[in-house]
Amino acid sequence: MAAINRAIRAEKGKIRVALVKKISSAYELAENSPAGAPQIKVTAPSVLTGDTALKFGSEYVQFTGQTKDPLGTKVDVQVVTQNPTTGAWEPKKDQNGQPFPLPAHKKGDFIEFPAAAWGSDPIVIAVEDSSIDIIKATILHEVGHSIPPGGRFQLKDVRDAAPTKNATSIMHEQQGGKANCLRYLPRPLAYDNPAGSKEENQWEKIQRP
Ligand SMILES: [Zn+2]
Repeated sequence: MAAINRAIRAEKGKIRVALVKKISSAYELAENSPAGAPQIKVTAPSVLTGDTALKFGSEYVQFTGQTKDPLGTKVDVQVVTQNPTTGAWEPKKDQNGQPFPLPAHKKGDFIEFPAAAWGSDPIVIAVEDSSIDIIKATILHEVGHSIPPGGRFQLKDVRDAAPTKNATSIMHEQQGGKANCLRYLPRPLAYDNPAGSKEENQWEKIQRP
């Protein structure tokens, strides 16, 4: 990140975007977790929940039900496995058909998550596994987030449509939608929205002179 920062100088009023081959992202465990723990705590202020599979040591997990506390975010955690036929992530079972216990982990262990871009400054976008159309849409998405204090765009990730291929909002939480629009129709926020009641009309969030 320091090298990218040196290579593209910051300039007032400009948003910097760096395209890189690949990026790797991780949450850090905030405290030890014993074997079979149903809940863990990570140091991040918010985390991915839902269908995304996250690599945690030798297993893949999914997070649900996040709650914040002063040191990070607590999440319910479930070990999952990928169905070889359908490709879907499903709860992993032990030999007795019970939920597979999460192995013990130590504070500081990493949980990897798939991210195609970082909304950092500079914005960093991984291009290795993406088509040119997806890369262009991702640049718009990340610039949409780009939030220098007083910045023009303050848009959040929304859940525009399921499955993702039907999404038409540029701010849909995942890549792969079919169009790149800003929605006037209020859409639910993808993160920090446990009750599902927070929405954003993204068209009206754009500041106009
Ligand atoms: Zn986003």
